[in-house]
Amino acid sequence: MFHSLIDFVREHYRTDDFVPLHAPVFSGNEKAYVVDTIESTFVSSVGAYVDRFENEIAAYTGSPKAVATVNGTAALHVALRLVGVAPGDYVITQPLTFVATCNSISYCGATPIFVDVDRHTLGLSPKALSQWLESFAYLDEEGRCRRCEDDGIIRACLPMHTFGHPVDLDGLVKVCGEWGIAIVEDAAESLGSTYKGRHTGTLGTLGTLSFNGNKVITTGGGGMILAGERMAQRAKHLTTTAKRAHSYEYVHDELGYNYRLPNINAALGCAQLERLEAYLSEKRQLAADYQACLSGSDLTFVVEPEGCRSNYWLNAVICGDSKQRDELIKVTNDNGVMTRPIWQLMNRLPMYQQAPSGELENAVWLEERVVNLPSGVRPA
Ligand SMILES: *Cc1c(COP(=O)(O)O)cnc(C)c1O
Repeated sequence: MFHSLIDFVREHYRTDDFVPLHAPVFSGNEKAYVVDTIESTFVSSVGAYVDRFENEIAAYTGSPKAVATVNGTAALHVALRLVGVAPGDYVITQPLTFVATCNSISYCGATPIFVDVDRHTLGLSPKALSQWLESFAYLDEEGRCRRCEDDGIIRACLPMHTFGHPVDLDGLVKVCGEWGIAIVEDAAESLGSTYKGRHTGTLGTLGTLSFNGNKVITTGGGGMILAGERMAQRAKHLTTTAKRAHSYEYVHDELGYNYRLPNINAALGCAQLERLEAYLSEKRQLAADYQACLSGSDLTFVVEPEGCRSNYWLNAVICGDSKQRDELIKVTNDNGVMTRPIWQLMNRLPMYQQAPSGELENAVWLEERVVNLPSGVRPA
């Protein structure tokens, strides 16, 4: 069984060499645009490609505004600051995510609360969220959500669109609305994914993207905050050292960050964005082919939730148990086809073991079974 999967991957990528999980492909205007920044000397924190990249991402996602950042983690950090996350606060998130999601909460001096995921979305479960809040939180006189145990404010909810599959946003928006909790969407993995026709990262108060080298498109390192007009202005200010516009004076009116995306990286992003639609259709075709290849096997291929369009950033299968998972990972990697288990749950990491958490039955179930398959676009 595993060998027919290996054969399928080798045939798809037309190679007998090592097949990585997700390598970037630069087959368009990448070199031309990067050389352009070098020749113009505008390689650093200002330049036309930054503005163009922001405008094009805003247009593509349907977000009123987009603010570029040096990476996706920085985008998350600032997004949480913007919805008011402060030291001592809590932020509800999923245990099944990449560590950056939780780290951004810690950077604000806040503590994550881990709530279970749904098996069909791999993302935060509205039902588990509602149940946790009913049991462990209350609304104070000002309508703020607080944790019963220590009266700490639960300021935000940070769901993540796992492997590009949109989380149940209607459900989360409803629960968070009832409890006065802001939603920041970690859409780092879901550029090109839509929920009921709307781009992921645009349904919460704020959303963030990543353009790291392993994502659907890359700027080398980079990120983006998706926001409305007013929040975007604040995001730009905070990410550019909180400097007031002035032609020569240095006036910084609050504690800001140097989280700017360099123009040379934005140039790469502009060229990659021109290829995005082609990449997405190739990735969706690969997902359909994986599904066909695995039909009749005892591996369950993870498909986009109903009403959603997934970018299929990383294809994933659910194994019968952890033994089968270990076998699959071993046989494929031994044969030069890279596969990988899903992340270790965040509540197991040393820095998050003390964080509050609900029942994590589905997260544990998935942690033991999910394996990612090679998913990159083929080199030209
Ligand atoms: C990639 C990623 C990020 C951001 O990563 P950066 O490398 O900082 O751009 C955040 N959250 C998730 C879930 C990710 O996969």
